[in-house]
Amino acid sequence: MNLFPTYKRFPLTVESGNGTTVVDNQGNEYLDFVSGIAVCNLGHRPPTVQQAIAEQLDKLWHVSNLYHIPLQQEAAELLTNVTNLDYVFFCNSGAEANEAAIKLARKHTGKEKIITFKNSFHGRTFATMSATGQGKVQEGYGTMLPTFEYLPYNDTKALENLHGEDIAAIMVEVIQGEGGLVEGSAAFLEAAQEKSWELGALLIVDEVQTGIGRTGAPFAYQHAELDPDIVTAAKGLGSGFPVGAMIGKEPLADSFNPGSHGTTFGGNPLAMAAVKATLEAIFNYHFLQEVKEKGAFLQKELQTRLLPLLTVQEVRGQGLMIGVEVKASVPSIIEELRGQGLLAVPAGVNVIRLLPPLNVSYDEIQTAVQRLESVLKQTKAADEDKLNTH
Ligand SMILES: *Cc1c(COP(=O)(O)O)cnc(C)c1O
Repeated sequence: MNLFPTYKRFPLTVESGNGTTVVDNQGNEYLDFVSGIAVCNLGHRPPTVQQAIAEQLDKLWHVSNLYHIPLQQEAAELLTNVTNLDYVFFCNSGAEANEAAIKLARKHTGKEKIITFKNSFHGRTFATMSATGQGKVQEGYGTMLPTFEYLPYNDTKALENLHGEDIAAIMVEVIQGEGGLVEGSAAFLEAAQEKSWELGALLIVDEVQTGIGRTGAPFAYQHAELDPDIVTAAKGLGSGFPVGAMIGKEPLADSFNPGSHGTTFGGNPLAMAAVKATLEAIFNYHFLQEVKEKGAFLQKELQTRLLPLLTVQEVRGQGLMIGVEVKASVPSIIEELRGQGLLAVPAGVNVIRLLPPLNVSYDEIQTAVQRLESVLKQTKAADEDKLNTH
């Protein structure tokens, strides 16, 4: 193998995909409840996005940001129309979107410190790795950037006790994805908002995983009625076309002027065609209403069928971002599920994460729940504690 072993890969080679279904190189079919980790929000190869990219392929693939790119403006409007935000910077990934947010917050406030949270995940560049509150992400890389401070997630008191003249921003996920599918409580998120106002710091919401309709709203912060200064997006933004965005409020615009930030690829016409077609489908009241209804249905089915099992601790999440916390080995459950034709990924240490395409059908949801139930029924609990509490 000539690839750096940055991933411990599952023994699976997917060759094709259509909607929620993928097919491996042996011809086996799977229900994809991973969606490339919240990327393929319209399923695999959604026709309207495929057509938009194909049309753009025939016109122009790439042009420098030194020239006008009208599709960038159209894509930006789709993002600002559904948020409290005004300006967009397009880049190529979630880490780059967060990197831009960190740079902008420091330049705009003239301050350096950024508050993030334990078990957060913000990316793999040096600044976003430093922002990430997980030792395993930072291990071996020496001294992290010293300007990040990590508070415990969902600890409202710790936020209330936060002081300092040097704080540029508070950066938070509304639901921690990689960190174990942990939802921020309303009180905690409100405290982050209040504290950012009190300190004259920006509130940055990392919606790389939770954004683009995943939770049943365009962005998850909208359930909590926050008023962030910056929101970052990436994963679901281009239906699989690599693209990220940093979206910010109008007063920040003057701090990012020509020469202060940039990107060669970010916002190129092919990416923008993918974004525009993706957002036109997802940022639609009826579509998002269905995401909410399907999410509620999936969660209720999981609670009814799985919670009685000894291995299952909790079912939680919002919209179609669902976690099943278990008292058993998650990697072996994930493997068993794959054998039953269901793809899922872990989150944190003991959570099975379900991220189906947002246009998954009710039949597919029911099939997935049946497969989960049959695997978890066979799974032995890691210890006997739960036997005693039942
Ligand atoms: C995936 C993720 C990132 C990093 O995005 P990349 O595109 O892999 O750089 C950042 N923040 C959150 C919340 C994520 O889930």
